[in-house]
Amino acid sequence: MFVVHARMASVPTLSFRDARACVIEQVAKAFRAPGVDVVGLDCAASRVLAEDMRADRDYPPVARSVRDGFAVRASETPGLLRVAGEVRAGEVFGGVVGAGEAVEIMTGAPVPTGADAVVMVEHVTREGDLVRIDRETKKGQFINPQGSEARKSDIVIAAGTRLDYSSVALLATIGATRIPVFRKLHVALLATGDEIVEPNEQPADYQIRNSNVYSLAAQVVRSGGEASILPVAKDDRESTRIAIERGLSADLLLLSGGVSAGKYDLVEIVLAQLGAEFFFDRVLIQPGQPLVFGRAREKFFFGLPGNPASTMVTFELFARAALELLGGQKESLLPIAAAPLTTGFRHKIGLTRFLPASLVDGRLTPIPWQGSSDVSALARSNAFLVADSDREEWKAGETIGVLLK
Ligand code: AMP
Ligand code: MG
Repeated sequence: MFVVHARMASVPTLSFRDARACVIEQVAKAFRAPGVDVVGLDCAASRVLAEDMRADRDYPPVARSVRDGFAVRASETPGLLRVAGEVRAGEVFGGVVGAGEAVEIMTGAPVPTGADAVVMVEHVTREGDLVRIDRETKKGQFINPQGSEARKSDIVIAAGTRLDYSSVALLATIGATRIPVFRKLHVALLATGDEIVEPNEQPADYQIRNSNVYSLAAQVVRSGGEASILPVAKDDRESTRIAIERGLSADLLLLSGGVSAGKYDLVEIVLAQLGAEFFFDRVLIQPGQPLVFGRAREKFFFGLPGNPASTMVTFELFARAALELLGGQKESLLPIAAAPLTTGFRHKIGLTRFLPASLVDGRLTPIPWQGSSDVSALARSNAFLVADSDREEWKAGETIGVLLK
């Protein structure tokens, strides 16, 4: 890997996949586990588990019926059986299912001793205290055996897992009410640009409102971080340096703008003066080509290109992985799936493209847009079409990459 200290040709340009691999590798090498918070079940979703969680008993703790019906001996079906009693969820049947007998059973109830299968209530005919079963029953049918979901002491959720609603259900199930999670990482968000004003200001015709730090803040929060928005830095070295130094006190610094080839794109120069190492400063993607990734004062930073689409896309493709992995997640996935196109699509080979698109009923339609500044096209999209860099054309009906927003 090249390490240089200035904006120079020797900082590499990488393909999309190499750049992502580079981020993951650098972050993994530098990883130090964040501190640990203990939270309740109501605050655990979206946090990253800091310790393995184990089953406190077998799940299910006893064999349970998964249907309403009759607990029987499978070898006695088909047949006419005597109903010896009933067992509901939350009860245990005191007796044994003997020869020629069945016990009426509800979903979730423990399977009585002696029975080895459950017949659905829909598949029997009740005749007084008898029940007629017309079909053959397989041993074990509609029974969840003891320990079939998890054995006592098994790890049911591993450290480094981002908790979602189903993992919260599992934590509740195993009685974990004080949950160790990694503290949220602080992410400093710094917009640069003389033309940028705050959203509550009335911009002149030559000015634009700062939208990037707000899309980034939403993306950071969604990725488990805590965002702090810094005041916009002007396009001069002193203002940029002061703001960057402030931003480097966070766990991760995300800059927007000032990384293209223009005379007033100063971010890389100022970072170099602060002793930064750069891992790459251009990626063969669109939007987002002039993307900078490096480290200064032991903190990683991304210089995200300022066009709104570039900022959003490069966060999703690269910065999110850094944030999630530094935050203690074992893996950071970028689930690019495939979907058939509703219309033909062409692009110029050489760059991997991530374009606003709409995924409806499993079919993908590119959304017409005016380029990387077109926030309204992005806001209408629910996915990105992902066009590989080495293929020029897709016909309607052919599958193409899709990344959900
Ligand atoms: P830059 O990367 O600084 O050359 O900026 C590229 C384009 O993105 C320019 O047209 C800017 O006006 C726009 N831009 C830069 N920063 C922001 C921001 N914080 N919010 C919205 N648009 C921005
Ligand atoms: Mg700029």
